[in-house]
Amino acid sequence: MAQDPSPIRPPPVYFAVGPKSHEITCPYCKVVGKTRLVRSLLRCCTKRHHCSSCGEYLGTYRRPQL
Ligand SMILES: [Zn+2]
Repeated sequence: MAQDPSPIRPPPVYFAVGPKSHEITCPYCKVVGKTRLVRSLLRCCTKRHHCSSCGEYLGTYRRPQL
């Protein structure tokens, strides 16, 4: 029976993230907390959400282009 040799980390979970930090349960460290927002330097209309506890990437908010 072949076992998967590589420990696979869960893929990024793309929450319906908004422009503001909000409370989530981190799928990586299971800590409930507010996301940490990192604004992209090149694309000012996108913001990346990271876990405030373990720092894992959780999802990107992209402002709708009008
Ligand atoms: Zn975390």
